[in-house]
Amino acid sequence: MRKYNFYPGPSSIPTAVLERYRDEMLEYGDTGASFIELSHRSPEVLACHGRIIAALRRLLGAGEEYHVLLLPGGAIGQYASLPLNLTAAGDTVAVAITGHWSKIAVREMARYCEVAVAVDTYPDCRGVPPSDQWQVPAGAKFLAYVDNETIHGVEFVAKPAVGNAPLVIDQSSNILSRPLNFSGVGAVFACLQKNLGPTGLAVMVVRQDLCAQPRDETPIIWNYPHQAANDSMANTPPTFQYRLLEFTLDWIEEQGGVVALDELNRRKSGMLYDYIDGEDFYRNEVDPACRSRMNVPFRLADEQLDAAFVAEAFDAGLLGLKGHRAVGGMRASIYNAMPVAGVEALLEFMKDFVRRQG
Ligand code: PMP
Repeated sequence: MRKYNFYPGPSSIPTAVLERYRDEMLEYGDTGASFIELSHRSPEVLACHGRIIAALRRLLGAGEEYHVLLLPGGAIGQYASLPLNLTAAGDTVAVAITGHWSKIAVREMARYCEVAVAVDTYPDCRGVPPSDQWQVPAGAKFLAYVDNETIHGVEFVAKPAVGNAPLVIDQSSNILSRPLNFSGVGAVFACLQKNLGPTGLAVMVVRQDLCAQPRDETPIIWNYPHQAANDSMANTPPTFQYRLLEFTLDWIEEQGGVVALDELNRRKSGMLYDYIDGEDFYRNEVDPACRSRMNVPFRLADEQLDAAFVAEAFDAGLLGLKGHRAVGGMRASIYNAMPVAGVEALLEFMKDFVRRQG
């Protein structure tokens, strides 16, 4: 029996997507082989790649001035590929630290260029300070930030408005969960394993003029213009991920795209925050203006009960509610694929837990 899956990534994939894959597991069309047994240069796989890029452009609203690439190395790999493609040695970039992942971004980017920290809320990470208070050096090649901090549950409500540097946005945990306006955007990227399906790849949308001259030492698998000219096939790509990504994008379109999902995501997260705010037994410490619609961290009044909460939730069919080891507590990850019924089941469990333990 499939249970409600609150894992932060790898995470819930719509059942309809998995069923489509199951149905063609042994044979793709009349090819006589499974999709994952076909050459990546076969017409079938190249067509699938083309449909994915077209769907991503359509759903995201990315114009022709952007490359849309599928790259290896997840999201952490892109913290390295971005400076390799967008800066020269000695250049400066700015990064806003609003949680765990932006801190990792600083660590990784600093291997290749100078990093100026534009703002730093670590380790509290309970909100996003107004961007007119940030420091972005003149000449910074880009300003990077993490749109949704998956561990801390902090999400930007609007793009920062400071300086002129192109924005580089890590949307790993909220891509295609709401509309994105591309004005001022240099690059948007995301790993797949939250809103885009299985783990194993990253989507990179990058303004072509910014990456015309990658550094010589850039690995070919992360060389953006080379990958753009070669259907992202500088090496043999994970075709299993391709097909699941394609089905996930189809599913997103069937749901009504990002506008419909935005509304649903607000509703689902609102149900949880409203209950947590009204019940002393639970608390969420993030500034209500910046609370994530994707990852809802919460603490119990008595942390001695944490282990019992996670274990009993698991027995009740609710998977993956333990918070990240860096912050403790609980976290409910409710990406696009989490149905309202899953949130309702979690709420029922939380209420019952208070009745028994509160
Ligand atoms: N950025 C964010 C916002 C994330 O949530 C994650 C993964 N949880 C990463 C980066 C790293 O992704 P990956 O493990 O695919 O490199």
